Amino acid sequence: MGFELLDVVAAHGAEQVAFAADDETGLRAIVAIHSTVLGSGLGGTRFYPFASEEDALVDVLRLAKGMAYKHAVCGNDLGGAKAVIIGDPRTDRTEPLILSYARLVDRLGGRYLTAEDVGTTQADMDLIRTVTPHVTGVSESLGGSGDPSPATAWGVLHAMQAVAERLWGDAALEGRHVAIAGTGKVGAALARHLAGVGCRLTLADVRSDVVTALARELGAATVDPAAIHQVACDILSPCALGATINARTIPDLRCAAVCGCANNQLATDADGDRLAAAGVLYAPDYVVNAGGVINIADELGPDGYHRERALKRVETIHDTLAQVFAVAVAETITPAAAADRIAERRLLANSTQ
Ligand code: NAD
Repeated sequence: MGFELLDVVAAHGAEQVAFAADDETGLRAIVAIHSTVLGSGLGGTRFYPFASEEDALVDVLRLAKGMAYKHAVCGNDLGGAKAVIIGDPRTDRTEPLILSYARLVDRLGGRYLTAEDVGTTQADMDLIRTVTPHVTGVSESLGGSGDPSPATAWGVLHAMQAVAERLWGDAALEGRHVAIAGTGKVGAALARHLAGVGCRLTLADVRSDVVTALARELGAATVDPAAIHQVACDILSPCALGATINARTIPDLRCAAVCGCANNQLATDADGDRLAAAGVLYAPDYVVNAGGVINIADELGPDGYHRERALKRVETIHDTLAQVFAVAVAETITPAAAADRIAERRLLANSTQ
């Protein structure tokens, strides 16, 4: 294979890694279960043309660990796991391949619960459901929770209230200026919530037609996507790509806090320290954007999915983030480090029970 497979697994840590290679359908897939200490491992299936099997393995191990921390910190009784299908979903996705993948998920017997991720769709999840019950995020008509974006946006709103409380002693967001980078499914829903509570908004998106229409609807300003991080505002909300908070952008920030839904906002761990040194409060991304997984976890209860109950639980992101900020202050660490500590402590406490 050209790399030390077990050393790679050991470096990232995983309870179990399952590989599948099915020549009949062309399936090449890896499932990584980081931990089932809190429950079955739940995480999405990424369908992506990785440059090498090693890249795919490193990515799936890293993502599975991220899921373990996300479930742990947001209070889900679920473990961390993730899967990758190696290939280009535009050309390699076939029904037999997805069904073959579904059999892999089924053989894991419920230790791994799959979901949609980059490159897979709700239609794929519905197809997987024909083979195995160990799949979430299926269509609402099949008892699933549907698109997670509204729940994610609802969670970001409540995270911002915790930010406001921490910085200004009041959870109210009325009159605050929020700059949103990326007005896609989550960013647009968030913008509507914020407009509804009386925020002033500046929006940016590479799709200028989309952002212009939304700005007109909400009476918001727009700015070039390359300049959104320079907007003088109360909260900058990255809702598009990862790694936008980095050594190059941090010196230009003119916000009091960063709080958005994008995954992996900090380019490196050192950027958490840079933000703190610049006096910018960072709301850790995986705490802020946990609404999607809290929502999906609601599908797994004995009585199935209930939207109202799920959204009520999403609101607990406010308290979780307040706890993260409190731990950061008490232990003189960054909020990013505090979130990791809270997750690690919950995992450790449960693993020794
Ligand atoms: P989306 O694809 O609907 O929206 C992303 C938006 O960002 C698009 O409108 C796109 O045009 C825009 N964009 C791309 N590059 C940009 C740039 N350089 N500057 C400004 N805008 C840019 O995706 P989404 O579902 O809204 O998710 C947004 C982010 O949140 C992603 O990082 C995703 O991984 C993360 N996330 C989403 C969910 C969810 O429930 N959808 C849950 C957790 C995390």
